[in-house]
Amino acid sequence: MRYRDDSEESWRYLAGERDRDEVRLPSYEEITADKKTYAEFSRLYHLEHNPDNARILIQKHGRDLVYVNPPAPPPETELIDAEYELPFTRLPHPMYGEAKIPAWEQIRFSVTIMRGCAAGCSFCCITEHQGRDVVSRSEASVLREIEGLENLPGWTGVVSDIGGALPASIRPSARSSAPTTGRSCS
Ligand code: SF4
Repeated sequence: MRYRDDSEESWRYLAGERDRDEVRLPSYEEITADKKTYAEFSRLYHLEHNPDNARILIQKHGRDLVYVNPPAPPPETELIDAEYELPFTRLPHPMYGEAKIPAWEQIRFSVTIMRGCAAGCSFCCITEHQGRDVVSRSEASVLREIEGLENLPGWTGVVSDIGGALPASIRPSARSSAPTTGRSCS
């Protein structure tokens, strides 16, 4: 892709265009200098999180360009089951030593049953790192994880949380067949 840096290729000029393969975002310097430009950056960025129709994002950082490729399709249940079977220690990174970590205390005996969220709350990053399609683990995989908790130090027999993003959507239907943009709960 050839990158042109002139007024007809600027993000302001191109905002809203859908017949291009890429989206120009306001530069890093522009969004750190102006809150309204940051808000517009966020809007443009969030419109490109559907793997069915997302485009390449391009942002200038000084003399450099950052390219963000469209997100991958969501994983199947079998794949996330396999990921949760990996031998995680469920412990904080050793670099923290004996430090008390309140966030870990809260989640140490919680069990994730799904990934992704179909909403898009502006304060939340779930859709950025897990995608907009909700994928559930299998019941057998969840039960295996719960049974394994009894081997952990400090286990009291209570699972503090069973969930994930958008917990009301356990085992949702497959992906939407109609590509959309801008799904949001707000
Ligand atoms: S519904 Fe929850 S998980 Fe989904 S985007 Fe909003 S805050 Fe994040």
